[in-house]
Amino acid sequence: MKISLNRKFTLFYVLSSLLLIIVFFTITNRVINTSFQSYMEENQLKRDQEIINYLEEVYRKQHNINNDVINNLWHDALMSDYYITLFTEDMQVIWKMDREQMGMGMMHGMMMQQRTYNSDFTSKTYPIEVSGEIEGYVEIGQYGSLLLSKEDIQFRNSLYQGILLTAVIGIGISIIIGVIIARQFSKPILKIKEVSDVLRKGDLSARIETKSNTQEIYELSQSINYLASSLEQQETLRKRLTSDISHELRTPLNVLQNHIEALIDGMWEPTGDRLEICYNEVHRLTNLVKDLEKLTNLDQAELKLKKELYPLEKIIDQVIHQFEPSFRNKGIEITSELDNQVITLIDKDKITQVMINLLSNAFKFTDTNGHVRVDLYKENAHIIIKVSDNGIGIKEKDLNNIFERFYRGDPSRSRKTGGAGLGLSIVKQIIDAHSGSIDVHSVVNQGTTFTIRIPLV
Ligand code: ADP
Repeated sequence: MKISLNRKFTLFYVLSSLLLIIVFFTITNRVINTSFQSYMEENQLKRDQEIINYLEEVYRKQHNINNDVINNLWHDALMSDYYITLFTEDMQVIWKMDREQMGMGMMHGMMMQQRTYNSDFTSKTYPIEVSGEIEGYVEIGQYGSLLLSKEDIQFRNSLYQGILLTAVIGIGISIIIGVIIARQFSKPILKIKEVSDVLRKGDLSARIETKSNTQEIYELSQSINYLASSLEQQETLRKRLTSDISHELRTPLNVLQNHIEALIDGMWEPTGDRLEICYNEVHRLTNLVKDLEKLTNLDQAELKLKKELYPLEKIIDQVIHQFEPSFRNKGIEITSELDNQVITLIDKDKITQVMINLLSNAFKFTDTNGHVRVDLYKENAHIIIKVSDNGIGIKEKDLNNIFERFYRGDPSRSRKTGGAGLGLSIVKQIIDAHSGSIDVHSVVNQGTTFTIRIPLV
């Protein structure tokens, strides 16, 4: 069974305040009772002492108990609900107040009688001494161990009522506080749940706008918002990727279809030129599939870099050698200045891929008589690789997008150059996986420089 936050909080508050009140009540009750007890005991002792003093005085003066004395004692005892029995020195009863009779008739007796039914009779006997001689004994007793007056009882009852009222008000206040606090928590949580439901149903643009000042709730909504925006980004990317791929596939497939149809229909002779066009399109498709494969591999293998300590100069030099014939054929000069002391933890194959992609771009986008330059050096705690050319450059509006998948500065020209707009996004992914960064600086018709920074390990 699931309990709502509201209920849980209220229950928690009520239970804890109830517990507090019980503890408070028990302690207060104890304190009240003990102080009452000692106060009453003192009073009672005082009363007993006064009676003894009076009787001693009587014996000293007249040596016997007459009716006046008895009347005096009877009257006081009646007023204050206690009972007196007088004895001679050999314990013979002289006078005894009738307990049964006394309770009846008198107004004052009503209250006393109520008490007589539920408490036991207790008494104390004291000797009456005159100049060292015992003249007799007096027994003073009452119902209950202590005699509480009407006012005493009223006072104690109003104390209890006060405590009870405090308890009721306390519980009421804790219920209200519980509900308010629970609302503060449950409201933003419910809002988060609502937004998550909307996200689940596919509207990835939904965001939580909570103003909660509770740190954890704020962080939770931030995380969900972050999750939503990455899902949204992924979704856009996925849609764009699918449409880009189909677009990329359509052109070569159309060319192939038209050419092959014409060949089958016998409209065209299968000449070398025509077959070469078909071959080029197939080649382009194969390259595209290879690039896509690399992309997916990188996506999965971001954490699976096979890093080893390797001199970077070697990798770069090998790639430059690989490219040299093509550059020479196109009339582009390639130079390099490589620090051979730069050794760090890298994935050799992936960095080779980076160099291939950068140099093939430099090759594609630099015209005859151009110049391409590669630098490798250490700067602070980083390795810097720079690939510069004096080619056609990149328009400013494209600079921010060139690292995105399938982005091509000038699609018509790029198609001619054979790129699908994947090269730089592969480069960026590899560099990111090495905890590095890549920047580009470019001026149209003057040239482009790519700068890679990888932290030295
Ligand atoms: P492509 O396969 O088209 O080369 P890339 O991701 O490698 O894809 O590059 C994206 C775009 O960036 C290219 O289409 C091009 O417009 C631009 N670009 C990349 N490198 C250079 C460069 N050295 N000079 C000029 N433009 C470049």
